[in-house]
Amino acid sequence: MGLSLTPEILRQFPKVELHRHLEGSYPLDKLYQIALKNKLDNSMSFEEFKIDNQFPKDGEPDFLLFLAKFRNHWYKSLSDISFLTYHSVLNLKNDGIFYIELRFNPEHFTAANNFSRLSVVRTIIAAGNRAAKEADIYIRYLITLNRGKHDPKELLEIYNHVKNSHKSICGFDLAGDETNYPPEMFREVFQQIKEDGYYLTTVHAGEVSPPTQIWEAINNLHASRIGHGTSSILDSDLQKTLIARNVLLEQCLTSNYQTGSWRDTSSHPFGRLYRMGVPVALGSDDPSIQDADLTDDYYLAAKYFNFNIDDFVQMNLNALKAAFIKPGQKRYLKIRYLKAVSEFKNRFNIT
Ligand SMILES: [Zn+2]
Repeated sequence: MGLSLTPEILRQFPKVELHRHLEGSYPLDKLYQIALKNKLDNSMSFEEFKIDNQFPKDGEPDFLLFLAKFRNHWYKSLSDISFLTYHSVLNLKNDGIFYIELRFNPEHFTAANNFSRLSVVRTIIAAGNRAAKEADIYIRYLITLNRGKHDPKELLEIYNHVKNSHKSICGFDLAGDETNYPPEMFREVFQQIKEDGYYLTTVHAGEVSPPTQIWEAINNLHASRIGHGTSSILDSDLQKTLIARNVLLEQCLTSNYQTGSWRDTSSHPFGRLYRMGVPVALGSDDPSIQDADLTDDYYLAAKYFNFNIDDFVQMNLNALKAAFIKPGQKRYLKIRYLKAVSEFKNRFNIT
């Protein structure tokens, strides 16, 4: 491992983040503040609240425990959603985020309340954009469609309702239970998205499912990126196809450990796929629930896969290439990104 790559240095390294869920990104102290204000969990100290709402950082992998940490009873008004979004985005600066495609599922916020879907979308984007401007971060949004919570017909309805509601939305994501709701169930939704031609898509696949689901996602759901895609390590034809079509895998080391989808991080496919030339980039997934952010995963990549600064720069350029923005914006961001990297190197005397 590069001796000089301490967590403190990596924290300041400029990062392109393509896989982070807003619902798993709230700074815990801000969430506690909302819980107290709304008279939830009132009897808990902050330390007890932390234990109740975070996965134990080095705890044994436990998928159901991980899922149990996602709750949606916090929001009693749109201003609660605005407050949590604003602080989540402001907090990205502490993780060295340069550009992010932040994803959220509007239904998560409307489910326990009677907020309208479009007011949730606009509230989140307004708060996120305000914080990103203050923190000097480039931001776009992905709308997550959750299989398992809604049938394909409802997801199509959500897509049609939300599409074109804000120009900062750049794509759609399919998340949720991939074992019981395989991608082929959602062909019609993703066919519609492709035919409309407004958005690119990413699909959670191959995290706990075989490579056939990744094939399905890229061939029949037309996914341009894949969430996790760890099982691609089992299929060399798939690896060649991902390279040929430049389909990037958004991989999340700590998340995969905690959910039990890949328990031994030192043998995680990420390092091998990168060395084979498969487009991969690290994402944080749900940093506040995991009690670990993107910087922590960068540190794991340096420790286990000998990533040096050149590798991290290359990985981030690959991520930028796979971003869901127009070619002109990518060229502009690439110039700005390389400038941020050179400032970072000067700061730490890295040649
Ligand atoms: Zn995810």
